[in-house]
Amino acid sequence: MCKSKCIVCGNITRPRIKKDNAVYHECLSCHLIQELPMPSLNIVDDFYNTETDFVADDTFTGKTNDFYFSFLSPFLARRTHILDLGCGTGMFADFLHSAGHDVEAVDISRKNVESTMRYGIKAHLGFLNKIAFPEASFDVVVCMQVIEHLVDPLSEFREVNRILKHGGIFFIGTPKWDAFFPRIVKSRWKYYLPGQHVTLFNHDSINMIAEKSGFSVKSITDRLYENTGFSKYIRQFIKPFLTGKGFSTTRDGMIIVLEK
Ligand SMILES: [Zn+2]
Repeated sequence: MCKSKCIVCGNITRPRIKKDNAVYHECLSCHLIQELPMPSLNIVDDFYNTETDFVADDTFTGKTNDFYFSFLSPFLARRTHILDLGCGTGMFADFLHSAGHDVEAVDISRKNVESTMRYGIKAHLGFLNKIAFPEASFDVVVCMQVIEHLVDPLSEFREVNRILKHGGIFFIGTPKWDAFFPRIVKSRWKYYLPGQHVTLFNHDSINMIAEKSGFSVKSITDRLYENTGFSKYIRQFIKPFLTGKGFSTTRDGMIIVLEK
């Protein structure tokens, strides 16, 4: 059995989930899940641009935007300089822009950047470290449903830390692999998506990557989308077993607030 190392803390990993031809390993120390072998940056770039002309799902509807904003708004001044990292089609960036903030955006998909620019937002194409924003340029970086796609999340977090002002906020939404539901459905969980979701976090791995990249953890809330009542959660839980698809619930994730 091949031994491999965690890309965040460097400790030993072991295979945990097999899906299609991919194997997801769990770090025995920080409990990060990483896909092995990890796709190269060239393969990632190809996937989001040439192969599929990737366009992100429009998950940022009114209710979801309001939900995220309820966590983010305590950290926003009247006109805050915000970077939306991995902006998708630009709906959340547009929401923040419409609330009066000074918003820029980054995405590695050309289609997503074009879509975001249609809202009148300055959107940059490419990997964050290649764009090389000046040090301490942003008050807030938002990164919704993105960190699970990163082949080298630690260097990305360090770059975010570099471009944030002192006291700046890194606001993240990501799936949580050890939530109740994914523990039950295992490899059938929607967020095990080989080639796209290459790293999956839990509280321990968020704490580890935050520490290694110079952030302090202000809060982690176990929720990915808007609040649903318990009865709706139970329906989400039962439905996939009946329909055989969409194995996820609104509670299979985390909203994370880090401070530089
Ligand atoms: Zn680790």
